[in-house]
Amino acid sequence: MSRIGDNIDYVESRIDEACKRSGRDRKDVTLICVSKTKPVPDLREALEHGHNIFGENKVQEIRDKVEALGTEGIHWHMIGHLQANKVKYIAGVVDLIHSVDNDKLAEEIEKQAAKRDIIIDVLCEVNMAGEESKFGLKPGETLEFVKRISALKHLKIRGLMTIAPYTEDPESNRVYFKGLRELKDEINAAGIEGVNMDILSMGMTGDYEVAVEEGANLVRVGTGIFGERNYAVKTE
Ligand SMILES: *Cc1c(COP(=O)(O)O)cnc(C)c1O
Repeated sequence: MSRIGDNIDYVESRIDEACKRSGRDRKDVTLICVSKTKPVPDLREALEHGHNIFGENKVQEIRDKVEALGTEGIHWHMIGHLQANKVKYIAGVVDLIHSVDNDKLAEEIEKQAAKRDIIIDVLCEVNMAGEESKFGLKPGETLEFVKRISALKHLKIRGLMTIAPYTEDPESNRVYFKGLRELKDEINAAGIEGVNMDILSMGMTGDYEVAVEEGANLVRVGTGIFGERNYAVKTE
């Protein structure tokens, strides 16, 4: 029996239930297994269980894991803070960058995508709760940011992402998930040329069910699948 496989099944079943409760189409919600800090054999276990979408938050770790597992039949998502000078290492490798929150980064993504003649899909990260410790745009500056970067032709803004506060009570994050959905609708309604966002990336181990109820399309679950992370242990 595979522990990781069982965990994936469990999380998928909770997503099913949350979709039913909220009248959502199950096909509109995708689970991203957040494999950061976890060793390659753990990812293999998920792959053998038929799950091939991974979220990572460090450029070097993505490179190492891609070297071990490849990109054929695997979808890599960059979910962590990204420095502009590292975009070149993941351009054309990851399916989606979830963490665009400043002009310099957006312009570098444009540059690296243009160089490769590709379009890179991105989400804008929004700090809904205004936590000092977190990256992301303020909700109130997001529309203007999207307007500015919408001019970049090799970058496609697919939607918004948020990391809600750590909490024991997932209900307390509902307001942020609802807020992100409303922000998406508001930006879509602004009719910015080339912008029609269809993705909300929200919800983690502690609160993904509430996020699904509020409209999440991508949920990012790490601990609930791979177990607690130990940052002191090297993954390679
Ligand atoms: C680590 C991380 C996750 C997963 O967190 P868990 O609580 O372990 O599910 C999700 N999103 C981002 C951006 C992360 O960095």
